[in-house]
Amino acid sequence: MKVIQAYRFALDLRPFQQRVVLAHAGAARVAYNWGLARVKAVMDQRAAERSYGTPEELLTPAVGWDLAALRKAWNAAKSEVAPWWAECSKEAYNTGLDNLARALKNWSDSRAGKRAGRRVGFPRFKSRRRATPSVRFTTGAIRVEPDRKHVVLPRLGRLKTHESTRKLARRIEAGTARILSATVRRDGGRWHVAFCVEVERAEHTPTRPQAVVGVDVGITHLAVLSTGEMVPNPRHLHEAAQRMRRLSRQMSRRVGPDRRTGQRPSNRWERARQRVARAHARVANLRRDGLHKLTTRLARTYGTIVVEDLNVAGMLRNRRLARQIADAGFGEIRRQVTYKAEWNGGRRIVADRWYPSSKTCSDCGAVKAKLPLRVRTYICDPCGLALDRDLNAARNLAALAREVTTAGSGPVAGRGADRKTRPGGPVAAKRQPGPLRRIRPGPSHRKAGHTDQSLEPTDR
Ligand SMILES: [Zn+2]
Repeated sequence: MKVIQAYRFALDLRPFQQRVVLAHAGAARVAYNWGLARVKAVMDQRAAERSYGTPEELLTPAVGWDLAALRKAWNAAKSEVAPWWAECSKEAYNTGLDNLARALKNWSDSRAGKRAGRRVGFPRFKSRRRATPSVRFTTGAIRVEPDRKHVVLPRLGRLKTHESTRKLARRIEAGTARILSATVRRDGGRWHVAFCVEVERAEHTPTRPQAVVGVDVGITHLAVLSTGEMVPNPRHLHEAAQRMRRLSRQMSRRVGPDRRTGQRPSNRWERARQRVARAHARVANLRRDGLHKLTTRLARTYGTIVVEDLNVAGMLRNRRLARQIADAGFGEIRRQVTYKAEWNGGRRIVADRWYPSSKTCSDCGAVKAKLPLRVRTYICDPCGLALDRDLNAARNLAALAREVTTAGSGPVAGRGADRKTRPGGPVAAKRQPGPLRRIRPGPSHRKAGHTDQSLEPTDR
């Protein structure tokens, strides 16, 4: 199976190498801003001419904004705009123009309703202070050195990696990986190189292909599995978060920049800012590490993984929950489980957003009308079950997989699968979970035992 995969390594850049990368990132920004100004000027001009009633055929001709057109225009103008252009690799300008072409496409697609998700605004100019320095190389000498401690990139030459490149180097030596591009970027005060790689992955089967696991993403735990396992949050996450809070308090007490008064930031503020950025990066790293370890283990072990389709954007708007949800990386678990299940030959089922996994009794199937978040133990009135809230939810999710499989292509637990069937729409559905639920697992199915393997997965 061929997949596109990223390999990311921290770099130890020497000062002059940092200067070269920053120059390239700056060149990318110049090309981006130049292209944006040009597109914008022509658009404004045409709008103005239209407002005077100029006929359509006499308008200033529109400029193309795909990558090829932008590149052509840039090459024609670069001696004027950036007489120093030869100092940087052409890949730098390409980085900027490619980003611009994508941004413009996203904006126009979003405006035309061709793009899912939140509305995309018109691209904005990049500032030296705010933009993350980054440059992408797609051609030329891109190599991972056999010593597994260095990488080679065009113009930048040999760069030392902070960690071993073994994972990627082995694949390249075995001929199962091909590097498509490399991006050097600074995040959280540290430089990284990310290789975009086409990987030929061996066919895998999970160690327990028949087994089903429901994953409930929690707040007190990273996740709760239907097997009863409570996966704890990564170690040191709490301390790192505390440190982050202390440092940002420290930063706020120092003299920062002020646009209105023209106040320049003090050196002490600048140092505090760097410490805060590093602390943020550490928290993010701990979280990412924990999530990856969990999802890899799940995908390698279980044939079927059931996760919830949580309305993460909506939950993030609830400010009391936002912090913990962002911390737990709710959406990220689903994303990782999805591609890792595919890599490992398993399958993933997403429970409908309105499926009451928390409110249903995992033993008798009774559904509670209400279950406030503070209630941590599920107590069933009809059958007397008392179980940890999250574990109960995880068990319901696992039961859903059996339901979906035994019912064949019946009610699918896909996104919003049964939303249209209720007259009141999603809001009404959310208020009255219960008898109308189509995919509530019945107790008979739950005890029916194994899944029918002849049926196709129904989650795609
Ligand atoms: Zn019950």
